[in-house]
Amino acid sequence: MAIIITDECINCGACEPECPNTAIYEGADDWRYKDGTSLDGKLVLPNGKSVDADEAQEPISDEIYYIVPDKCTECVGFHEEPQCAAVCPVDCCVPDDDHVEEKEVLLGKQKFMHPED
Ligand code: SF4
Ligand code: SF4
Repeated sequence: MAIIITDECINCGACEPECPNTAIYEGADDWRYKDGTSLDGKLVLPNGKSVDADEAQEPISDEIYYIVPDKCTECVGFHEEPQCAAVCPVDCCVPDDDHVEEKEVLLGKQKFMHPED
């Protein structure tokens, strides 16, 4: 399961530097698979999606900080608990029911993005 940021976000920015997968972006910013990962060029993700890691992707939100579901591992592989939720002052980082994944799948994502760790 990925984490999602709700519209209660106050845009404080505390979560962004805490994400080990660089899955959190400021509203209206472009995002890339390669940001903060070892991903590079054209590739197929573990979920079967073909992507270009270097290509700028459209922001998921224009108003508030957002999390890229394909990059979020709930911090599995790095930490015991989601770091964004741990630091968020208004508790608006919550499980995303639309992106439910088992722990093994989350660990597979983490290893795919960070094979050197
Ligand atoms: S749960 Fe962890 S990996 Fe997912 S967005 Fe939050 S800090 Fe990043
Ligand atoms: S820590 Fe919470 S309130 Fe601050 S930017 Fe992140 S999600 Fe928004």
